[in-house]
Amino acid sequence: MPISENIARIRERIGAAARRAGRSEKDVSLMAVSKTFPADAIREAYAAGARIFGENKVQEFTGKAAGLVELHDATWHMIGHLQSNKAGKAVELFTAIDSLDSLRLAEKLNAAAAHVGKKLPVLIEINVGGEQAKSGIGPDTPELEQLLQSTHKLSNLEIRGLMTVPPFAENPEDARPYFRQLRELRDRIAVRRIPSVDTDTLSMGMSHDFEVAIEEGSTCVRIGTAIFGERNYTSQS
Ligand SMILES: *Cc1c(COP(=O)(O)O)cnc(C)c1O
Repeated sequence: MPISENIARIRERIGAAARRAGRSEKDVSLMAVSKTFPADAIREAYAAGARIFGENKVQEFTGKAAGLVELHDATWHMIGHLQSNKAGKAVELFTAIDSLDSLRLAEKLNAAAAHVGKKLPVLIEINVGGEQAKSGIGPDTPELEQLLQSTHKLSNLEIRGLMTVPPFAENPEDARPYFRQLRELRDRIAVRRIPSVDTDTLSMGMSHDFEVAIEEGSTCVRIGTAIFGERNYTSQS
């Protein structure tokens, strides 16, 4: 199936899920997760109207970015775990970091953004399932609290909301409690009106569960497989 048709189909499903939840489809943006796919596939998605792209490795995207400069109104989001020693490179490459998963990384990104005189939009990644193997900050941890209380010192970061990858479940309904948990956490943070902490963005939902995520309040779904096809990791590092 061509990428353009996949995108058209996903947009229809986003619209239907939003309407079911009494929401407007304009409030749900579509991120095309292009990790492991070449620049050509990204250009095809761009031609079909995609403007927000998600990548998960600094090194891989460095190799692709040079061939994508003509897509001037596209935005590039880092959605994978970022090592602090790559913060500088990531700030150069990406429009936004949607996978901020530690206070230490926040400090590194803030310094790197200050160095180039940039305000960097970020999402705090929350590990809703408390899984060892996953990155993200625990929902009710001292680290999250410390990060939220440090924002006045992180003046080159613009916190825009939360992101999560719930534990994998065959049945998307099983992810619903985790999506709800992220929304409720967002609501608890929002009422505190912490200066420079914006909570409008809830990035949640992937190819197999994005409709449930939209019903639970997602404002950005991150879709890879359903747009670009199955990923082949054997050729990747
Ligand atoms: C790969 C990835 C996605 C996309 O997953 P699909 O199941 O292919 O849609 C979304 N979010 C993150 C953080 C990812 O790493």
